[in-house]
Amino acid sequence: MKTKKTIKGKLLTAISPERVLFLDPGYLVISEDGNIEDVCKEIPTGGEQDPEYYDLSDKLICPGFVDIHNHLPQFTLSGLYRGNLFEWLSDIVFPAEGRFSSPEVAERFAERFFQELLSKGTTTTSSYVTSHKEATDIAFQCAEKSGIRAFLGNVLMNQNAPDYLIKDTPILLRDSEELIEKWEGHDNGRLRYVLTPRFAPSCSFDLLQGIGKIAKKRGVHIQSHLAESKAEIATVMDIFPDLENYTDVYFKAGLLTEKTIAAHCIYLNEGEIEILKKTGTKVSHCPSSNRFLQSGIMPYRKLEKSGIPIGLGTDVGAGYSLSMFSEMREAIESSKTIHFLDTSAVYNPLTSIEAFYLATLGGAKALTIEDETGSLEQGKSADFSVIDIAQLNVCNENFFSNPEDLISKLIYSNGENYIEEVYIKGKLVYKK
Ligand SMILES: [Zn+2]
Repeated sequence: MKTKKTIKGKLLTAISPERVLFLDPGYLVISEDGNIEDVCKEIPTGGEQDPEYYDLSDKLICPGFVDIHNHLPQFTLSGLYRGNLFEWLSDIVFPAEGRFSSPEVAERFAERFFQELLSKGTTTTSSYVTSHKEATDIAFQCAEKSGIRAFLGNVLMNQNAPDYLIKDTPILLRDSEELIEKWEGHDNGRLRYVLTPRFAPSCSFDLLQGIGKIAKKRGVHIQSHLAESKAEIATVMDIFPDLENYTDVYFKAGLLTEKTIAAHCIYLNEGEIEILKKTGTKVSHCPSSNRFLQSGIMPYRKLEKSGIPIGLGTDVGAGYSLSMFSEMREAIESSKTIHFLDTSAVYNPLTSIEAFYLATLGGAKALTIEDETGSLEQGKSADFSVIDIAQLNVCNENFFSNPEDLISKLIYSNGENYIEEVYIKGKLVYKK
């Protein structure tokens, strides 16, 4: 039987890129249906008598992370380096994705992938599967069982990739419509379908246009890569010589919407940034991946100042870890590198609070689900982690009273190792 829960602990949640709410102690009250009923300083009347009252005074309770860009089939190949983006795709990624034609492989890896995400405190993921419809369907089934909140997409490619991964446009579009029909909005919106053209080089213009039409008709999300490396941009301009730039390819095909996530966005000119802003497109910042493949560094402050909503993506397997603590660390460190190159205040490095915001509420906003998750707020789903901060190596007790120091310490101490439990919709989905 479902019952109400009251949890006492150190509650920490981002309110904006500059501010957090930190209650020590605070009380998180969770309704029978798994939503946050209250976040308060004083214990609610009768709270201690609740059949499910937990005193976790020494633990940190923070929102589940939102990883807005990663690749399910690449989970096991992270860390394998073979040069730049195109070499890495052809030598490592495409053969690995080809193995997902086997339902047995698809199931085994999907189960492990979602388990790994949950163990790192990630409660929402936006993931590319492969171009196999059945593997994508299996990934949805595994996500459904795991309890995770997931946006999943069948990868769409009809050119410039091995024959075993490409399909004809009508098949790809039909597969997408069928998967949308089956999974979009499943379990009160916990599972969503996201249209996933891999990137412009692997899609003909008619395929991109077809995807744009489905997105409009069905109102679903779109995810793709944009301006990740200079070689990629040159390839795009060879394939689409009549279009103005990389962003223009997606824009003219009708792919840039308020529900579109464009990953990387390292090399955009002012006009392209303006188009992203005008169309309401969101950006996934993937600093680990960008360094690993030597693609470049996204000028975070430039995009942020333009007003484009940004979230963080681990981009596993070019990113080497599904830990959002690791990605936050890399976001801060890469912003310091940019600041070395331009010391003007325009490029001030990210703070730990900003990184924490991007990994939680910022990500939820980028996915347009900030009313459902991303922070500990009344009315949202109870998606959170319990972190045993008593194990952190700190100099004195007062340390725990400063949330900025606490976040920074977790970011630079592989905070995922201290996660004890993870909840989604108030239900335990991971226990160490
Ligand atoms: Zn990617």
